[in-house]
Amino acid sequence: MSVNQPAHTGPPYGRPQPGYQGYQQPAYGGQPLPGVPQLQYGAYNGPMPGYQQPAPPQGYFPSLGFPSKGSPVSLNSDTSSLAPNFIGSLRAPSTSGASLPSDHLTYSPFGQGDVQNGIPTSAAPMQRPPASQPYLPGSASMPVTQTPTFQQYGPPPASVQQLSNHMAGMTIGTVAASAAPPAGLGYGAPRPPTMPGPPLPGQTAPVPPASQPNHVFSPPPPTSMSGPQPGPPMSSLHGPPPPTHPPQPGYQMQQNGSFGQVRGPQPNYGAAYPGTPNYGRQPGPPPPPKRLDPDSIPSPIQVIEDDRNNCGSEPFVTGVRGQVPPLVTTDFLVKDQGNASPRYIRCTSYNIPCTSDMAKQSQVPLAAVIKPLATLRPEETLPYLVDHGESGPVRCNRCKAYMCPFMQFIEGGRRFQCCFCSCVTEVPPHYFQHLDHTGKRVDFYDRPELSLGSYEFLATVDYCKNNKFPSPPAFIFMIDVSYNAVKSGLVRLICEELKSLLDYLPREGNMEESAIRVGFVTYNKVLHFYNVKSSLAQPQMMVVSDVADMFVPLLDGFLVNVNESRTVIASLLDQIPEMFADTRETETVFAPVIQAGLEALKAAECAGKLFIFHTSLPIAEAPGKLKNRDDKKLINTDKEKTLFQAQTSFYNNLAKDCVTQGCCVDLFLFPNQYLDVATLGVVTYQTGGSIYKYAYFQLETDQDRFLNDLRRDVQKEVGFDAVMRVRTSTGIRATDFFGAFYMSNTTDVEMAGLDCDKTITVEFKHDDKLSEDSGALLQCALLYTSCTGQRRLRIHNLSLNCCTQLADLYRNCETDTLINYLAKYAYRGVLSSPVKTVRDALISQCAQILACYRKNCASPSSAGQLILPECMKLLPVYLNCVLKSDVLQPGLEVTTDDRAYIRQLVTSMDVAETNVFFYPRLLPLTKADVDSDSLPAAIRNSEERLSKGDIYLLENGLNIFVWVGVNVQQGLIQNLFGVSSFSQISNGLSTLPVLENPFSKKVRSIIDMLQMQRSRYMKLIIVKQEDKLEMLFKHFLVEDKSLSGGASYVDFLCHMHKEIRQLLS
Ligand SMILES: [Zn+2]
Repeated sequence: MSVNQPAHTGPPYGRPQPGYQGYQQPAYGGQPLPGVPQLQYGAYNGPMPGYQQPAPPQGYFPSLGFPSKGSPVSLNSDTSSLAPNFIGSLRAPSTSGASLPSDHLTYSPFGQGDVQNGIPTSAAPMQRPPASQPYLPGSASMPVTQTPTFQQYGPPPASVQQLSNHMAGMTIGTVAASAAPPAGLGYGAPRPPTMPGPPLPGQTAPVPPASQPNHVFSPPPPTSMSGPQPGPPMSSLHGPPPPTHPPQPGYQMQQNGSFGQVRGPQPNYGAAYPGTPNYGRQPGPPPPPKRLDPDSIPSPIQVIEDDRNNCGSEPFVTGVRGQVPPLVTTDFLVKDQGNASPRYIRCTSYNIPCTSDMAKQSQVPLAAVIKPLATLRPEETLPYLVDHGESGPVRCNRCKAYMCPFMQFIEGGRRFQCCFCSCVTEVPPHYFQHLDHTGKRVDFYDRPELSLGSYEFLATVDYCKNNKFPSPPAFIFMIDVSYNAVKSGLVRLICEELKSLLDYLPREGNMEESAIRVGFVTYNKVLHFYNVKSSLAQPQMMVVSDVADMFVPLLDGFLVNVNESRTVIASLLDQIPEMFADTRETETVFAPVIQAGLEALKAAECAGKLFIFHTSLPIAEAPGKLKNRDDKKLINTDKEKTLFQAQTSFYNNLAKDCVTQGCCVDLFLFPNQYLDVATLGVVTYQTGGSIYKYAYFQLETDQDRFLNDLRRDVQKEVGFDAVMRVRTSTGIRATDFFGAFYMSNTTDVEMAGLDCDKTITVEFKHDDKLSEDSGALLQCALLYTSCTGQRRLRIHNLSLNCCTQLADLYRNCETDTLINYLAKYAYRGVLSSPVKTVRDALISQCAQILACYRKNCASPSSAGQLILPECMKLLPVYLNCVLKSDVLQPGLEVTTDDRAYIRQLVTSMDVAETNVFFYPRLLPLTKADVDSDSLPAAIRNSEERLSKGDIYLLENGLNIFVWVGVNVQQGLIQNLFGVSSFSQISNGLSTLPVLENPFSKKVRSIIDMLQMQRSRYMKLIIVKQEDKLEMLFKHFLVEDKSLSGGASYVDFLCHMHKEIRQLLS
């Protein structure tokens, strides 16, 4: 390694960095080599945009402090953003107002309904591989009787049928019925098409006609959004505003960023907040259902569009303190000039209150969403790697912050003052440099750590476990070979895929081959290890049947280099499907599998990742054995939280051991019934791994999705044995963390593995005052082992403004990031509190945020007006989406596993992902321009926006729906589906045929493009209007009232308005 290199001046740009043998940067002054998989680090000196010409923005001298206020990008001058937004009797969105839009979001489904699949009885004779015998494939191979088409055991879990059941269940008309959930055990039992309950006025069929907005007369949910007490009719709690409010004068006076004009008489708020029990059954005539015009309330689509138009064309240059970046839905280029790219860090506000009192008053959470290894756009510069040789990075003596653009050099450059704690530290002799007349070091532009927001340091041995440089990591593939896995064709599929996929293990620069070693295990009730040493003619199997005390039966030959052992590995992967083709073993173990992988990594003294492909609840006798404790009757009770908790602490302890070793666990689940994701996911979650779930896996419909996920997961950039710490200016500190990691103390976030998609949300609290002059700084330092085994530190710095006026806070917020934080906060809350409590707390906090704005920042106006800060005008609609999500308000057919799964996924999501997850993107495909690369303009997520004559696409990061209206022209149907009429489109289709016409090509290219943008391959579901599946689709039309009781956007907005008024009165 490179520690012995001369420790002098940092690597000059013109020559290769010292100490970097073994890691050749392809771009030293030249072009990347063709065929090189990925340029991991920008050449220090290469022709990188943005670094060669690091001309700082005017007046910006990072080493001298912050740019003066009033810099061109400062939002302080944006008085228009102070303009309140009126909702109320206004209509017609005004797009002219300067708005800081929030992101578009989507929300998505995951699994399918809960239908039990036939499980073979275990009475069948078991045929197991011989225990503890070396496996000699040549002589002992079992006859292959399986044909590539695997017949299903028992009734095939046709996804169509399942979804139909799902839908049938969902049509159970009334949410009120959820008070009597389907007895938790009724998996797969056919559900009655209807259930007693209040009829839906105007509806006779279970599926409401598309033209009927479903929020007008829907029955109330069993639990309210914000907990109106049961009993009193809603009008007493949430009635319309006092009739004394005349049509509001003065709206026209305040149109900036507002939503239009007075439409008429004061709208009747009472029209129905759905959280009220008894609504629809109230005695007496209900209030006339006059409603807000949906066009008059803030539109996510409009906000997203406006931001794209305003911010999409210019690069976002990070030289200015406290600059609010474009929304995550806007496609923009970033130039690092001293602050970390928003791809790495986004904040709930870029101007934070100076005092704790102000922060408490506003209730705006101060949080940063950090994605330390985020993937950048190809045009953007990857973080440079700085090597200070054996002396290591320069740090503050007291707080240990790393050298960064905000450190101030003094005394002619001999010392520097820490920008975080103010401590003065001697500059080490090798790092000394003179200052120019402005006080800036003359090598300022030559050093990434002085001029950039993000960069890396090569770590010295001091940063390594046991003071020893790490070995390259290993990947271990652990395949469930129990009955279901074999019969579904999964085992064969995985083995086939691995043969080619192993050539694409992560590597860096122009390395010819990956440094990562691989190993293989199969298992059911016992574990089979394979010796694939290159010198063997055939692989050998070692069986460990004593799963109570797991050990690895072989060391030499278990973890191997792919190229060296290529033939043996290929032979093994050919043989595995056949060895187990006739298995009757249905039971599996799970914890011993992880233990085996962990022990193997320990023995090899390296970090690594386990890829576990698992199908069922581990009921076989073994440590970590689980029982089926699913019980939907717990929903809406105080015990609901137990559904999200692990059923044993065993896995928590195992996770801790894994983190210590740097053993990250990625889990691919293929359940046909409940398998307790909440418990199985514990180790994955705490080690920074990923979970993928393919309910009722079927080769034909699911293999593309699974293989795409697997390929991406294996190939993506990942760091191991990672520790992240966030340092802040004196005055605030990181107090809470959300994400997939483990913490053994209150400051260090530990992750056995951290990949490019994983996000950590960090909350800050005041412990002292901040000052407007100096602002506030964040420095995120991630110590990790690269896929080559190199120990590195990745540093991200971000400077924020501080304010003494609340208006400045509200002008610089980012709602999408706020929602990311709130969702994670709520999703963690369900582990310990009743879901209703969590929901009420969310509503209450947001009402306080908006009430504080109204009270302190908005111009005086009638109490009948809802006034929202421009930057937060989408807070109500997005908050409602979080409240309606399946974790916080499950639909009848959402399984316990789905909820646990979603809960874990969201906890690691970045802002773009939570955005589209909670507010899905809805695109009218029939409006697409087949001659251009652009997407059709998105529309709002409401049924009333759909036309029967069009085809739409809805995506939320997990699913893509294609909805086909009944009146779509035959020509379009022919072009897209290859059939001549609507009725001939198969129900439950999950692929589009490849047809050679412009419309088909356009639609498929849009889908491909969306798939590329997401970290997971989305499941494609074709939905015909008025088909049963449509109910599933409608679940994602999040502006409408949902069947599970979620409020419509309009109703929720009215409800928020009442909450705010109560706070103000
Ligand atoms: Zn310090």
